[in-house]
Order: sequence, then structure tokens, then C-alpha cells
Amino acid sequence: MVKYWLYINLNPLKTSRSENSATEEAKRSKLRSSHREAVWGERFFGEFNQSAIISYCKGLAMFTRFRRKRLNPVLRDLVKETTITPNDFIYPLFIRSGEGIKNEVASMPGVFQMSIDEAIKECDSLKALGLNSVILFGIPDIKDSVGSDAMCEHGIIATALRELKAAHPEMFIVTDLCFCEYTDHGHCGVLNPKLQTVDNDITLKNLAKQAIVHAKAGADMIAPSGMMDGMITAIREGLDSAGFSHIPIMSYSTKFASAYYGPFRDVAESSPSFGDRRSYQMDPANRREAVLESLADEEEGADILMVKPALAYLDIVREIRDASNLPLAVYNVSGEYSMLKMAAKAGVIDYEKVMMETLLGFKRAGADIIITYHAKEAAALL
Ligand SMILES: [Zn+2]
Repeated sequence: MVKYWLYINLNPLKTSRSENSATEEAKRSKLRSSHREAVWGERFFGEFNQSAIISYCKGLAMFTRFRRKRLNPVLRDLVKETTITPNDFIYPLFIRSGEGIKNEVASMPGVFQMSIDEAIKECDSLKALGLNSVILFGIPDIKDSVGSDAMCEHGIIATALRELKAAHPEMFIVTDLCFCEYTDHGHCGVLNPKLQTVDNDITLKNLAKQAIVHAKAGADMIAPSGMMDGMITAIREGLDSAGFSHIPIMSYSTKFASAYYGPFRDVAESSPSFGDRRSYQMDPANRREAVLESLADEEEGADILMVKPALAYLDIVREIRDASNLPLAVYNVSGEYSMLKMAAKAGVIDYEKVMMETLLGFKRAGADIIITYHAKEAAALL
């Protein structure tokens, strides 16, 4: 810790860094002789750290009147450090086959599985609220061991992309890139039977194929969420070689194996049939590794980084914000959303205020982009 010598030269107070002891002693006696009017005592001429000096100064004469800047509401707005706008939000859409289907998810009030025609209507209401960006998740009719629907040009997401883009060419459409919604075992890639987990390198090849299918169908940005090592390199190479070097990648770069995803698995129908995802998603206990994961994706060429979930991981958001200059997204996940909904239902919170305070917290922590089921409600209030 840096130590300071503190001496009173009437006002303002001055501090200087420690010098060698002979100089210090000379300075001390000089001060003793020349500043007899100053507050005196051994405590005063000892070594202090910065916070001790600050609290001492406040006690001496002045305290800071922070409340001056809080009296007038206009001034409060002028000094506001963080703001949220509808431009900060990406709204998730869950697409399934069929027509006229709009099924509310019991565990996520206000969130629906939709057929493509309903999703097209939904985009009209999003645009009316000033929301111009969505992220697509697909619920295929048929699941198999590799997740073929995700790599098929006639799969649910490729089809939805073409139809949504035709109806709403100006809507910015991000696609979630993973296999857990498409595999019959619910894991995020091809299984390695020996290890009883996802085979990293075979899955990389499939991720590249899936990305190209999405790009061809009109995706504006690809967002791989499977936490495979090397996924950004593989997807970037795949996209570039197919003529899509202009398509950005938003990586779910630091994604934890979280219990907050519970309600999402109801809506996306993506619960693993055995085991869990702890052999590829991150341990919630690890902070240094969380930063390394995102920095590795930056090095591989990710355009935007992400922390998922958001609410219990704001320290990680700040760490990555400070470690990288790339734009940073957070995923305000299903469990975080449902907790507020259920608390509102129980009458224990002011839902709108808690929602806005939560979203503001994400931005204050360092997020540029918030993927959130609250986007419509929040945009309506802004
Ligand atoms: Zn997945």
C-alpha cells in the first residue's frame, strides 16, 4: 500500500510520498518548527494511507455536501452517469413450426413460443416500441443425436430468418448458435461416448456449418453459446471462407453453468437428458478463468463479448469491461426475469422500478448490450 506523509500547511492540505528516512526526519522537524498553529500530535505526523488522510481531512473542517447535487431533479439528470435506451436491448424470440401459434411459457409470464407468422407480427410491435434487434432460438420438429435441423437450410431457424428478413429487412437479427435445442440428448454438440460429454472438435466443424447456414439465410450477427474451446476461430474461418467476412460474431464468451437458466429450458425445450453442462460451461466460483475465457475469444476474433447470466455476475461484467475494449453484452436470463415476475405476482416488489434498476445495474457494471425478456416492458417506459 502507498503510504503518505501528512502535514498541515493551513489550507489546502498537502500530501507527499514517502522519501528516505533522513529526508523524512528533516521534513518532520522543519514542519514541527514552522507549523505550530496546526493541529498537533504524534498521530498527525505518522504514516497514513490515503483513506485515513481523507477521513482525517473530513473530520478537520469540511465534509462533502453530496446532497447539493441531489436537490434539483434537473441537476440530478445532468449529473446522471448511466442511462438506458431501447437501443441497448436485444429481444429473444423462440420460434417453432406451424401457423398462428403463440404459446405463453408457464414459468416465464409474457414470453411465448411463436410460429414464424406470429414472430413477424411480434416484430411490428417491437419496432413500434423502438426495438430493432432480436435474437432467435429455434424449437425444431425433429431432434436427433447431432442436431441436424440446426445445419439444414430448411431447418426452423434458416426458414424463420428468410421469412423475417423478407417482412422486416431493417430488423437486426442475431441467431443463437448452439445444438442443445436440436439434439435428442439436449447437450450442446455431438457426444463423445467415451467421455460422456460433448466432443469439442467435432462440434466445432458443425458450428461452422450452422453459422454458414444462418448467414446464407440472412442472419445479421452470429452468437455462439456452446462454450466450445476454439469456437470463434472455427466459426470465423467458416464464415470467411463462405464469403461472410462482414458478419460479426457476438460470443457468449463467459457463460456459467447456472441454475438461473431453469425457465429457459422450458421455453426452448433444451434440458439435457442426462448429466449437466458443467464439463463445458464455467464454474460459477471462478473469476480469473471468467476473464481468461472472454479474452481468449477476443484473441480468436470475437467482435462482441458476453457474460451470461447477468445479475449474479456483475463483478465479472466489470472485470471483463476493464480487461477488454470490445463491446460487452450481458444476458439477463430467464431465472432473473421470472424471479421479478413472481415477486411482482406475490405483491412484494414494485415490478417496474425493480426491473429498471436491474437493467441500469447491468449498464453501470459495464454492459453495452442487454439481451432481456424485459425489453418490451422497459422500452414502453423509456
Ligand atoms: Zn447449448
